[in-house]
Amino acid sequence: MPISPEQKMDLLVSLCKRRGFIYPDSEIYGGFANAWDYGPYGIELKNNIRDAWWKRFVHGRDDVVGLETPVIQHPKIWEASGHVQNFSDPLVECKKCHHRFRADHLLEAKQAEPGYDKERPVDPKDLRCPKCGGEFTEMKLFQQMLKTFVGVTEDTSAVAYLRPEAAGGMFSAWKNVRDSMRKKLPFGIAQLGKVFRNEITPGNFIFRTREFELMEIEYFVHPKQADEMFDLWLKEQKSWVTDVLKLKSSNVMFRDLDEKERAFYSKHSIDTEYLGPFGQKEFQGLAYRTDWDLSRQQEFSGEDLRWFDQETGERFLPHVIEPTWGLTRTLLFLLIEHLDIDEAPTSLPPDKGDKGGSSEGDKEPRMVLRLPPHLAPVKAAILPLQKKDGLAEIGHTLTKTLRESGVVVEYDDSGSIGKRYRRQDEIGTPWCFTLDYQSKEDQTVTVRDRDSMSQERLKIADIPAWLSQKLKA
Ligand SMILES: [Zn+2]
Repeated sequence: MPISPEQKMDLLVSLCKRRGFIYPDSEIYGGFANAWDYGPYGIELKNNIRDAWWKRFVHGRDDVVGLETPVIQHPKIWEASGHVQNFSDPLVECKKCHHRFRADHLLEAKQAEPGYDKERPVDPKDLRCPKCGGEFTEMKLFQQMLKTFVGVTEDTSAVAYLRPEAAGGMFSAWKNVRDSMRKKLPFGIAQLGKVFRNEITPGNFIFRTREFELMEIEYFVHPKQADEMFDLWLKEQKSWVTDVLKLKSSNVMFRDLDEKERAFYSKHSIDTEYLGPFGQKEFQGLAYRTDWDLSRQQEFSGEDLRWFDQETGERFLPHVIEPTWGLTRTLLFLLIEHLDIDEAPTSLPPDKGDKGGSSEGDKEPRMVLRLPPHLAPVKAAILPLQKKDGLAEIGHTLTKTLRESGVVVEYDDSGSIGKRYRRQDEIGTPWCFTLDYQSKEDQTVTVRDRDSMSQERLKIADIPAWLSQKLKA
């Protein structure tokens, strides 16, 4: 069913709350702006994306190793990286209503307006408040790193920062990884986890928040290999989008950034952008950072961070290719992409279940999350039509067997079967196993497919193998 992008976003936000994916944080205290709780299904989905990433890029390769460094590290790291000096946004405040905005975002919006003349760029002084039309104060720079104090004093010697990206830790630990892991160039270090940025204008649900999660690889190469390795990682990022996330290629753009858009140390950057309800937005990135990071950490630490190539006798600072994935943004776009509305039969006789297009009678809209099965929070639901006559027992036994084989399943025996199907459709469960009286006689169940709503009968004993085959596909 066609729905507008705004409607889709509203449906998604309400589904996320109603079904336990994402809640507004601190809601009993009136909420805490732009902070979100990941509910029981949200955390499963997030973990599944994260684990698929780790499996593919760390366990699946000889040339990448994992790492975890703290959120709060030596502040020198952020001096060396340039964050203390340069990681700030241009901030303007409305003189009338005191709303704050990012000047660069306002300029961007102006330039996107129809009739915008490229030859006559907007003067920041001509910007007016989008809320009330008021004038702005002078632009000032606003430090994006969240500051804190470590220890019992709150003086400048105790100042530390919450990491704004995961990369810093990989450069500061580079020497130890180099010396302990017996790797050969090229090789990479992978890290994922929470990062923090004091955003001036967060928003669009979980798209821009002050606390979010990144998955990053710093891939160290000989300078001569840099272009070739950049292309290889671009291929990896493309295949992740289509093969793992199953995003339609028409919704995904790989955009080569021009010099003005790139960080000054980056020689080549390609952003992966998703065309969603609030525009075309970045959720992955790839950058050729040259030897900028290691040279700065070497300078600030005084340690020799060079690589020694035993075969050639060459000693040099490796160059870095950095593919980055926004975990929370990936989760958001995955939900937007796979949320769909189709039709399902309305009246559902308790002993029939729904048979999709093949059943008679009226239909009603059905909301369904068509998540790739390997990422779905719950893989299968076990639904006995009745609690009585031993059906519950068969259901519990099947549930236990599947759990023991490591599959996340749900058992549910209350309410009409139609309502139970709707609930599983909305949380994206790919298969429902329905137990009826025939199950008692011949040890079979009905398996219902989430996407087609078609049903077939399976022997209970075959289910574990059937499921593991399906989840591999
Ligand atoms: Zn205003």
